[in-house]
Amino acid sequence: MSRIEPRPSSAFAEQLQAQLLAWYERHARRLPWRAPAGVRPDPWRVLVSEVMLQQTTAATVAARFDDFLARFPTPAAMAAAGEEAVLQAWSGLGYYRRARALHACARVLVAEHGGRVPADAAALSALPGLGPYTAAAVAAIAFDRPCVPVDGNVARVLVRLFALDWPLPSSLPRLRQLAATLAPSTRAGDFAQALMELGALVCRPRTPACCDCPLTGLCRAQREGRAAALPRRDPRRVRPRRRVTAWLAHTPAGLVLLRRRPPRGLLAGLVDLPSGPFRPEEPPAAPPLPARWRRLPGVVRHAFTHLELELVVELAVADVPVAPAAAPPDEGCFWWPLARLEALPLSSLGRRLLDHAGLLPSPGRQASAR
Ligand code: SF4
Repeated sequence: MSRIEPRPSSAFAEQLQAQLLAWYERHARRLPWRAPAGVRPDPWRVLVSEVMLQQTTAATVAARFDDFLARFPTPAAMAAAGEEAVLQAWSGLGYYRRARALHACARVLVAEHGGRVPADAAALSALPGLGPYTAAAVAAIAFDRPCVPVDGNVARVLVRLFALDWPLPSSLPRLRQLAATLAPSTRAGDFAQALMELGALVCRPRTPACCDCPLTGLCRAQREGRAAALPRRDPRRVRPRRRVTAWLAHTPAGLVLLRRRPPRGLLAGLVDLPSGPFRPEEPPAAPPLPARWRRLPGVVRHAFTHLELELVVELAVADVPVAPAAAPPDEGCFWWPLARLEALPLSSLGRRLLDHAGLLPSPGRQASAR
């Protein structure tokens, strides 16, 4: 391993640990996936929470976590339930690749680990869907292994603490090496969560609350008066933008025409509305029904990692369900009651398109990750 600068002294690390842990004992939020003080966390609950929190806010996860765990209380229960059931339970949380990976992870845990979550970060990082951050987080929080997971919150705290001009996210590997030098030999799980909590509550992105921070005496960026200017960011990539038509057909009896996406590609296996192709290399699509279509005002914007969509919605009301004719053969269209959308793995995009047309039943109006 190459030499990492800065190299915090052990006295600095011990002072940081002591001040941060004392603050955490007083200020930690009560969250459904956190074990009370003195109680050993359930590793499966920790693993599921860390996967859910990868791209979704704590408030959204908190509203869904207990129901999700009640449905899949163990890796064996999730493996037996099947991917479709996991996707359906994940509906509205966005980034469905995580749900598929979580189901694959449960299957590996059953097949190769006796249905248990391994304690070792290397074994954890070999599981589907668990990158270096999640593996370190589970090892620290569930098993008190001396790891420091570096997510966006922790990266921000570290960059400011040492006044580093390292751009993010490209400097994450270097930050992980620096973070490892700070891990305590005991209470590693509390220390990891304390760093995350400090980033979420105090060392906030635009407005760090330095006057409420337990690390003010140690923090170089605060001393130099440039906390809010850090971290630096890598230059933004410009994502291609594409305008796409979505067709929303429904009946007065409350049926809506939906489609299941192909098993590979964007939103693979999920349910949304019939639409034109998301990628320019795909063949163009026609409306799924012969009907009197009218364009709704406004657009729905939706961002994928490498692509931004701007969707216009064409609406039609059919007196009775009309057999869809124009869907590609691998994208099955079907009529479905609007009142039973929660039984489907409906994509966040499909949910937003229905909401745009005012057709989302009120129980389904919930925050989506994307
Ligand atoms: S003193 Fe300010 S910049 Fe430094 S860690 Fe605390 S909140 Fe962040």
